[in-house]
Amino acid sequence: MDNIKEMVIKKLNEREVNIEDIAVLVYELQKNYIPGIAIEECIKTVEDVLEKREVQNAILTGISLDVLAEKNLIEEPLLSIIKRDESLFGIDEILALSITNVYGSIGLTNFGYLDKIKPGILGKLNEDKHIKCNTFLDDLVAGVAAAACAKLAHSKA
Ligand code: MG
Repeated sequence: MDNIKEMVIKKLNEREVNIEDIAVLVYELQKNYIPGIAIEECIKTVEDVLEKREVQNAILTGISLDVLAEKNLIEEPLLSIIKRDESLFGIDEILALSITNVYGSIGLTNFGYLDKIKPGILGKLNEDKHIKCNTFLDDLVAGVAAAACAKLAHSKA
């Protein structure tokens, strides 16, 4: 495992997101399409997604912005926009789409679904947003899960 991937996993863990949490999202989305899929395969696929440099860069950027916002270290008006997770901000989704699309646009549908339904860890991140800034993190996690689904779909096609 390279250093940056390790750092990305550590940063996710610090923000209370584990690989397994993301793998559960992948499993739930794929179990009806890939008979007999195991959670271990979902974990492996999430790990593969996190190998990609553009994915690592997006995660490090987004988590840094969330943390800087919590510390009030971003200038206004951007600080308030990020802290309130304004729905018209949209840059959190744009950043996450760079992850979602690493295995082609097939990840897009799953990203939209996860963003709307917010299952599992995404619901938890959303609930925590009054005590923490998860404006970027929730989209990054949905992006990684959607990319992993796309990778699985390609490998089974
Ligand atoms: Mg967001």
